[in-house]
Amino acid sequence: MKILVINTGSSSVKYKLYDLRKKEVLSKGLLEKIYEPGTRLTHEKLPEHPDRKVKTENSISLTHKSGLERIAGLLSDNEYGVISNNDEISAVGHRVVHGGETFKTPAVIDEKVISAIKENIPLAPLHNPSNLTGIEIVGNLFPKAIQVAVFDTTFHQTMPPEAFIYALPYELYEKHRVRKYGFHGTSHAYVSRKAAGFLERPLDELNMITIHLGNGGSMCAIQNGSCIETSMGMTPLGGLVMGTRCGDLDPSIPFFLSDHLNMSLKEIDSLLNKSSGLKGICGVNDMREVIKRKNQGDIRAELALKKYIRRIRKYIGAYFAILEKLDCLIFTGGIGENAMEIREGCCSGLNRLGIEIDRERNQITKNKIREINKPMSQLKILVVPTDEELMIALETQEVLSYL
Ligand code: ADP
Repeated sequence: MKILVINTGSSSVKYKLYDLRKKEVLSKGLLEKIYEPGTRLTHEKLPEHPDRKVKTENSISLTHKSGLERIAGLLSDNEYGVISNNDEISAVGHRVVHGGETFKTPAVIDEKVISAIKENIPLAPLHNPSNLTGIEIVGNLFPKAIQVAVFDTTFHQTMPPEAFIYALPYELYEKHRVRKYGFHGTSHAYVSRKAAGFLERPLDELNMITIHLGNGGSMCAIQNGSCIETSMGMTPLGGLVMGTRCGDLDPSIPFFLSDHLNMSLKEIDSLLNKSSGLKGICGVNDMREVIKRKNQGDIRAELALKKYIRRIRKYIGAYFAILEKLDCLIFTGGIGENAMEIREGCCSGLNRLGIEIDRERNQITKNKIREINKPMSQLKILVVPTDEELMIALETQEVLSYL
């Protein structure tokens, strides 16, 4: 069964074609800077094979439609293609950012699902419209394939009301759906499943804290395999310190910025999303660069790192308090998987919680699931490489099996 996974953003499209029967990635690619003169398309055939082939096209000006047509063309291209015609693809799994409260599971896309995704546009005005564009265009390009929507938010739909409600007038929730939703759901779901497999224990018996640290970052408290708390909120701005996002903040700060600095709502929105976080404190958002600068004696970079780690430690403490027991702590995402100093900073001195990191094991770098707790430790600390596209493909396959 060949499943295409598509992530359509406002200016980019990521795709991966899987043959799940053979457990193989047949093709993957990235279309960047859509609607700009320098649109760039990188397409790979058999990315994990020795006879891998890459095609890069630069400076072509493409739209979502012409870009997706180009991708479909490459997938069945004589030289770079992996299918003989579009009908070979059984299903397409679309990443959709916001499913609101409507979607508790992935959904086969039909008119009703499309209107429900539209209804959730106010909750994700930057993302859901592009996701819908992708759904429409891909639906026309692959008319025989079943289209499935996989949402970033569904994994968190198991949170109890006391976790998702804000202490605001209740009507805001009832009438306008103002509440915590949480994001990165496919990643939290994937790494928790992987961890259960690795530990050879049933997922529904495990309590875990998952820590996804990429350009964005979020944490999840998982009880018996289900999410009961997460750090992002109604939007992906809340929670941890991120590359350019501030995370948790005194809600009065935007008023101060407006009253005293005459900033408009748009400017404040941009400041909190694009110029804050690590970048706000030390001028750069890429973690490798922050660590490099700190090692060169840059005091701001050191402060940014301390703040970054302190926030994660506070969430570990908070989640420890709401979980009755903790079996496992999981690091994932570009930073969680690669930055040993961040993992050590988050875990050191937490022996009293049963969190005992092994410094030597923590320093081993390999792109594989691994244990970094002290050998005799009851509580496991795992590094789990995430794979959101594979999770979308697996969830798509799961949905098909119910049809
Ligand atoms: P995204 O959230 O866009 O998917 P990733 O999960 O790839 O991003 O994470 C990107 C982050 O991972 C960047 O801040 C990058 O600096 C960081 N990163 C990648 N490799 C390393 C490394 N070896 N050490 C420290 N940080 C790393």
